[in-house]
Amino acid sequence: MEDRVDFSVVIPVYNEEEVLPETYRRMKEVMSSARGSYELIFVNDGSRDKSQEILESFARGDEAVKLINFSRNFGHQVAITAGLDYAKGQAVIVIDADLQDPPEVILTMIEKWREGYEVVYGKRVKREGESFFKKFTASFFYRLLKRFTTIDIPVDTGDFRLMDKKVVDALRLFREKNRFMRGLVSWVGFRQTSVEYVREKRWAGETKYSLRKMLKLAWDGITSFSDKPLKIATYAGIPLSLFSLVLFLVVLFQYLGGRGTFPATSLIGILNLLVGGIILIALGIMGEYIGRIYEEVKGRPLYIVESTMGFEKEGEGDFD
Ligand code: UDP
Ligand code: MG
Repeated sequence: MEDRVDFSVVIPVYNEEEVLPETYRRMKEVMSSARGSYELIFVNDGSRDKSQEILESFARGDEAVKLINFSRNFGHQVAITAGLDYAKGQAVIVIDADLQDPPEVILTMIEKWREGYEVVYGKRVKREGESFFKKFTASFFYRLLKRFTTIDIPVDTGDFRLMDKKVVDALRLFREKNRFMRGLVSWVGFRQTSVEYVREKRWAGETKYSLRKMLKLAWDGITSFSDKPLKIATYAGIPLSLFSLVLFLVVLFQYLGGRGTFPATSLIGILNLLVGGIILIALGIMGEYIGRIYEEVKGRPLYIVESTMGFEKEGEGDFD
């Protein structure tokens, strides 16, 4: 049997040369007081600065450091996914490289895990040194997500979290492309709890989440957990058709009441509305089917087994 690793720390890295030495130092400091063996898995997401060389030098001097170099930038969520795929630990912690999530919080997460929780996510009670715009958009996004989706994605949590091996094994079953990891983590269930922390300023460097990447993440979050956007056409089409019907009746009664002839212009307007409404409803119906196709294509597991009893392989959830 190969060496058992207690904790895997997954750290996505994109152009973080300024922070890496400090990140490494702080992670070592924290993990060496964690009572257990650990590995630090750095996922270099196609950095174009000196990140790769710096990480390679860590890996050369330290057996606990593992490095995954991507061939190009694939994005934060995919970097996390790769880290989870390679992690061997009994518990896996995902944390940003920029020290905005204080590594010391990992120790509290580990305590909760020892109490029996399988997912411990960090909940930001305060965000330091981030622009008003960032805080506003983030807060708006989390609330929008809550309204739109059926699963319960906790408000104000990022990807900073600890997951038991069982949860990580479950997440490995998801191979969908446009992924929103925190949504998937909620989706899989298990015993979840939070620890609160103050989100710090970036240690150095700029945010690597451009507005474009942020919008993509938000859109992935909503579209991978909700089919509501597909239903918008129906919601618009039904009232439009009804409205045209009402208008038609009004004009008809006016005509029958003997007030003038049936006005051709209003008829054209009414027909226009009606046809528009019917087209929208038809689009909405197509949307329903596309929604179902989308559900199937994602190929998510139907259920995740937490544990079984009475079968040959007892106890743990059977994923292999
Ligand atoms: N990151 C990544 N790939 C990307 C963008 C970001 O791996 O395409 C990493 C980045 O190095 C950091 C983490 O993801 O460790 C979070 O990014 P960042 O701190 O820039 O986001 P913010 O905290 O501003 O939301
Ligand atoms: Mg950050």
